[in-house]
Amino acid sequence: MRMSQLFTKTSKTAPADEQAKNAQLLIKAGFIHKEMAGVYDYLPLGSIVLNKIIQVIREEMNAIGGQELFLSSLQPKENWEKSGRWHDDVVDVWFKTRMHAGEGYHLGPELGLGNTHEEALTALMRNYIQSYKDLPAYPYQFQTKFRNELRSKSGIMRCREFIMKDLYSFSRDQAQHDAFYEKAKEAYLKIFDRLGLGEITYLTFASGGSFSKFSHEFQTITDIGEDTIYVHEGRRLAINKEVYTDDVLADLGIAKEELVEKRAVEVGNIFTLGTRFSDPLGLTFTDEDGTVKPVLMGSYGIGPGRIMGTIVEHFADEKGMVWPAGIAPFQVYLAPIGAGETVMQAAQDLYDNLTQAGVEVLYDDRDARPGEKFADADLLGIPYRVVVSEKTLANDQVEVKPRTEDVAQLVDKNSLLTLVAN
Ligand code: ATP
Ligand code: MG
Repeated sequence: MRMSQLFTKTSKTAPADEQAKNAQLLIKAGFIHKEMAGVYDYLPLGSIVLNKIIQVIREEMNAIGGQELFLSSLQPKENWEKSGRWHDDVVDVWFKTRMHAGEGYHLGPELGLGNTHEEALTALMRNYIQSYKDLPAYPYQFQTKFRNELRSKSGIMRCREFIMKDLYSFSRDQAQHDAFYEKAKEAYLKIFDRLGLGEITYLTFASGGSFSKFSHEFQTITDIGEDTIYVHEGRRLAINKEVYTDDVLADLGIAKEELVEKRAVEVGNIFTLGTRFSDPLGLTFTDEDGTVKPVLMGSYGIGPGRIMGTIVEHFADEKGMVWPAGIAPFQVYLAPIGAGETVMQAAQDLYDNLTQAGVEVLYDDRDARPGEKFADADLLGIPYRVVVSEKTLANDQVEVKPRTEDVAQLVDKNSLLTLVAN
């Protein structure tokens, strides 16, 4: 992409009321725009990154049998009344509205803007699950959730409107459920590995419900995190403070001295739901022996936007963002220095060659000072900065600097592709 054609611009300032580093940097770099507290727009560059994160998650969900769908945000209150979660004293993050009713504008039936989709999907699956032969099923989606969060000070990590990947498992019996739950755990760990957060993300024991003692969270170490966890480095697991009791420690065979307290953010959460929703919403199936049984469910959430914010927080330095190659909006930031004909032509040729070879290049074809270009390259966090100037061209070379290093090196123009494609 040519920078001159990108409608967003970098800026030196972020909104004064923006406290979180992730949002400050993303706004300065033009990746996002702040609508209001806890509500952000994803602009072209932000959208590319978000979609790359989503694609990694999608691939891992498909690999364990997930089937992608897309449910509505507007939900009738009846399903939520059945599960007991319609009332504001049970769920305190509701955004509710009403259907139009002729002249009585806004006085029709009440609706909720989905904050999660157990109710909606359980009701929907009644149409497709009748027999044990219809099980298991693993529908999932990337969909907007609405939550009227009390505080929203963590930038894109805690929003009032955000995309969640939520998968729901529908199983015939406990063994079938357990087998999938273990697969989902592995898939989640793989996702965080692929996104560059593997080393600082821990499978974390957290509060369960009536159907399992624990749920499992995926907690990433970061100062901005709102959770306290106790990490067992040797076993690569952690315990959330909310279930940190002598009982649980004994259960897991862990001594207090082996644990280190850390601040972390919950980036994913998987739950065994049992019949919590299938019972009240009447989702049953006929088993092989003819008996009618409730379907056993699980839910598996992950927040692509929260992950994006966490990545910014973790990798950024004083100069700006640093994207892991797998989700960077571009692999190469290409800048000609000096507006001479030869330099511009060489930059254009490089842009064409790299692009044709499948390398994603942001071509800074703006008429700007070198200092300005370099500052933007750092702020945007693109893995490689490539500079073409009369000096480099004299030896048929270009200057390459990885974002994470201070020193640039001169490389042969023809070997650039091998270098940046790795
Ligand atoms: P928290 O305790 O942080 O409020 P939660 O437990 O309510 O989160 P879940 O319902 O488990 O969240 O949602 C699944 C995933 O969705 C979370 O692990 C997180 O990655 C993401 N998520 C949840 N709430 C938000 C939010 N307000 N903004 C952005 N992402 C979110
Ligand atoms: Mg959770």
